[in-house]
Amino acid sequence: MSAETTASLPPQAVEQAAALLRAGRLVAFPTETVYGLGADARNDAAVAAIYAAKGRPRFNPLISHFSEAGAAFAEVVEDDRARALAARFWPGPLTLVLPRAPGSRISELAAAGLPSLAVRVPAHPLAQALLRAAGVPVVAPSANRSGAVSPTTAAHVLEGLSGRIAAVLDGGPCAVGVESTVLDLTGATPLLLRPGGVPEDALRALLGPIGRPDPASAEDAARPAPGMLASHYAPALPVRLEAESVSPQEALLAFGPALPGAGAVWQLSESGDTMEAAARLFAGLRWLDAEGQRLGLTGIAAMPVPEAGLGAAIRDRLARAAAPRG
Ligand code: AMP
Ligand code: MG
Repeated sequence: MSAETTASLPPQAVEQAAALLRAGRLVAFPTETVYGLGADARNDAAVAAIYAAKGRPRFNPLISHFSEAGAAFAEVVEDDRARALAARFWPGPLTLVLPRAPGSRISELAAAGLPSLAVRVPAHPLAQALLRAAGVPVVAPSANRSGAVSPTTAAHVLEGLSGRIAAVLDGGPCAVGVESTVLDLTGATPLLLRPGGVPEDALRALLGPIGRPDPASAEDAARPAPGMLASHYAPALPVRLEAESVSPQEALLAFGPALPGAGAVWQLSESGDTMEAAARLFAGLRWLDAEGQRLGLTGIAAMPVPEAGLGAAIRDRLARAAAPRG
């Protein structure tokens, strides 16, 4: 990715930071847990830039942040449990995983292709001010390079991401320093996907029993959690990797100049740009799957994608789409 100058902005510059977010740029900001790396959650290219800036080797699902519960619930299908938790713990360090609302405009890349969305309303006054000023949902994983420790000061953010993001909004050190508790409410029993700032006891007092994801259970395998990414969206049509030619009976996922002769073509990036390709990946898989089935095609052929940049994450995702399923 191209290097840029990272501005360190004082709290008074909230409007400037919000304008950067709306323009599709990356802005780090403090929450009560850790510094988050923010991008407009509806902008595929901005979300792709987050994975690139962090150097994430795969597309983990990201949490979308909102200034208030009403805006968060507009993107998901909430139930009584979610409303009770929101009333008690929002704003605060609790993330709820719920089914995506049919009309949600959150980027599929932000959800890593999952049918669920993770939503949170942070309490930090500067995060609140930024989210209100931005007026768009903001995805914000921790503002560190992949594998590095989560940052709790603006200086930590700059150590890892200086030159890779547009700005950091400096609100001083974060108070909690641990990440948000992630609770999955997509099934009958709430599942604790990640312990964090809101203790499990406090959740149990409100909800009753809380489970843990069990990789051996078929129901839980359908409720994706960290480390259980095999259950991410897979096309119904079989996927063939590293295609060097394509038949008229196949749909083509093209990267660079498209191979001739396919029954349908989705271009990830004509110029071979892995960031553009990442932004178009999930929409492409879905479109080729639907169009391929409509036309009676037999499979999806994926052209080779190099490892560089976001290529490794794209290759990881394509390998999962091509893996045999039970
Ligand atoms: P981070 O952004 O680094 O705080 O991590 C985000 C956490 O939320 C990870 O543990 C993700 O796996 C989890 N997460 C985000 N979206 C979803 C989702 N749709 N389903 C399950 N877990 C999610
Ligand atoms: Mg993180």
